[in-house]
Amino acid sequence: EFVRRPLIAGNWKMNMDHVQGITLLQKLAWTLDDANHDHNRVEVAVFPPFTDLRGVQTLVAGDDLDVVYGGQDLSQHDSGAYTGDISGQFLNKLGCRYVLVGHSERRSVHQESDETLRAKVEAAYRHDLVPVLCVGEGLEIRQAGTHVEHTLEQLRADVDGLDAEKVATLVVAYEPVWAIGTGEVAGPEDAQEMCAAIRAELTKLYDADTAEKVRLLYGGSVKGQNAAAILRERDVDGVLVGGASLDAGEFASIVRFEN
Ligand code: PEP
Repeated sequence: EFVRRPLIAGNWKMNMDHVQGITLLQKLAWTLDDANHDHNRVEVAVFPPFTDLRGVQTLVAGDDLDVVYGGQDLSQHDSGAYTGDISGQFLNKLGCRYVLVGHSERRSVHQESDETLRAKVEAAYRHDLVPVLCVGEGLEIRQAGTHVEHTLEQLRADVDGLDAEKVATLVVAYEPVWAIGTGEVAGPEDAQEMCAAIRAELTKLYDADTAEKVRLLYGGSVKGQNAAAILRERDVDGVLVGGASLDAGEFASIVRFEN
């Protein structure tokens, strides 16, 4: 039995236009259906590009799919003169449950600071979205051995001042940058080390009850073949999957990690 309901999340990144996205989701739903997937036991979420969300909403609602979805980013603002940005309000209206905040590609390609990310976490909650806050170190930091401190620093800055009630619903994804899209997967013990450290830090910042409720994911080159070992770790409550989420069969095999 799981302490927390596992979350298997697929980040499509900038792949799958609105037609391809629907096909992928339909295939995923069929595959999970065939495998008698129990959504109450394991939650499945996809993060399509913004332009796919309306189609995803229609498909999920129309076919009553056991899949939830979210945006890959949101603005820290609610509306106004922010050309190209997307408000949490809009995501909420499209039925999103989750939103990624601080994915390493947002941090590096768009130079998003922890201050901005802290505001984005707040904006997500303002619009009833659950943030999936991504944290994790780059290769140099890992090699220097300061990866735990680095990652906890990001965590502290990004949740600074957030109340315990909100934090209890938060999802934190530990994604070592050196393992994202590289085929280099962190060992289950590396994932556990960091997830345990994150939970301990949340216990310090809040309390044990709150920290026990937070779901912690690992992300970085997760595939059907390595998912089970990672998900067996005590403090790992799910995975965030990039590349392998673009293949319905492969993603479904991650969802079925128990068999
Ligand atoms: C990601 O983008 O969150 C990710 C973990 O990518 P990949 O699975 O391709 O490493």
